[in-house]
Amino acid sequence: MAIRRGAQGHVLPVVVAMSVLGCGHAPAPAPAPAAAPAPTASAAIDGRMGLLRDAQLAAALDAISVERIRADDSTLAAFGTRHAMGDTLSDSRGVGAARRWIYRTLSGYSRDCGGCLRVEYDSAQMVIERDAQKPLVNIVNVLAWLPGRDTTRIVVMGGHYDSCRCSLDPFDAVGDAPGADDNGSGSSAVLELARVFAHRYPKGLDATVVFALYSGEEEGLYGSTHLAARVHAQGYRVVAGLADDMVGNVTAEDGRVDSTTVRLYGADPDNGGSRELERYAWAVGLVYEPALHVLPVFRMDRIHRGSDHIPFVQAGDPGLRFTERLENYTRQHRPEDNFAHVDFGYIARIARLNAATVGSLALAPATPYGVGATRDVPSGGQDWALAWHAVPGAARYEVLVRRTTSPTYERVFDVGADTTYLLREQLDDEWAAVRSVGAGGARSLAVDLPQPAAVTH
Ligand SMILES: [Zn+2]
Repeated sequence: MAIRRGAQGHVLPVVVAMSVLGCGHAPAPAPAPAAAPAPTASAAIDGRMGLLRDAQLAAALDAISVERIRADDSTLAAFGTRHAMGDTLSDSRGVGAARRWIYRTLSGYSRDCGGCLRVEYDSAQMVIERDAQKPLVNIVNVLAWLPGRDTTRIVVMGGHYDSCRCSLDPFDAVGDAPGADDNGSGSSAVLELARVFAHRYPKGLDATVVFALYSGEEEGLYGSTHLAARVHAQGYRVVAGLADDMVGNVTAEDGRVDSTTVRLYGADPDNGGSRELERYAWAVGLVYEPALHVLPVFRMDRIHRGSDHIPFVQAGDPGLRFTERLENYTRQHRPEDNFAHVDFGYIARIARLNAATVGSLALAPATPYGVGATRDVPSGGQDWALAWHAVPGAARYEVLVRRTTSPTYERVFDVGADTTYLLREQLDDEWAAVRSVGAGGARSLAVDLPQPAAVTH
């Protein structure tokens, strides 16, 4: 097997303080100093990981409307409560009225694009375990599928539309629970993404996108748990399980305001799919929305809290949560979580990051699979021979490298169309990964090299 020499790869211009690890890509150096300066931990990291801006996707982001988001959240809050265990018969109040309005709204977007969205109620009878009565409840998600060229790979962009007044009584399904921030904000963002993607991509992207409005989140992630189990049972490959939950509050109890930062939550391990998704969304933000400060948190979710990305993480998929920088606990899960306390421009900024992430992932080919690494004996064991299987639609592949202490990738090597690469790195001290590049330049998520299992000395 011919291994392409690392020296032939080139490094994309995203690199920080270049170490002298011998990648061989740099111009011929001046006479070497006796001791090379080591890269420092404080080196500024570009963070874009070599991702490029797609002009059509950037134009789609500009179509995201603050006014639409405001109108959608207003409508959702006006249902009074959307408690998953509440009344479903009224046309003006409660979870049933809300889901029928969501279904009608998504169906309207589909009509406008010639039927490009497949809209459905996705329901399951589920026992609410936290309720001492153990009631059986019909949990109803509303989904809009935008089929791509590849109908086996799905990018799920979700948010829960149910609400609660859990801080007073978790199972009060009657009293006011407008849930304008939690999670009318994320629901409005997902609805707006469905509208824009249907309009801008009526023939779909490469992967299929599922816009998911979940129910039963507040009682224990019921709707997303059902959808994650369903898509796995049906054999779909989940590229990402993305969730917006509380993306509209900008004022904390003590008066602090932050309308320019969004938090991302991505689960351990550091070389796992959720963390790669988190790095990807972070990089996408730097490329498409540099004015929005992305604060990645390397953690599944906030302490003792959860959201609709978690069932996907638990199923082995990359999952990620987007949420506001500052929470307001005096309103959360209370009747005070109303329309007056939501910043719609802030939701729209986060929706743009959502759309850039969804679009980038769905434009890209599948991730490389069967990625392996072995020490390269002919080179004396210092170099690593990487190999993976070709992926349909991939024009090229790239190898990414970072120090173990670096939050994101620092160097990117272009491999061309080969599916092997000789990485001339001291990999004991680094993380490395491989990703696919489509003909149009869209990058897949990176797949980390597996750690060699056998221990030798
Ligand atoms: Zn929520």
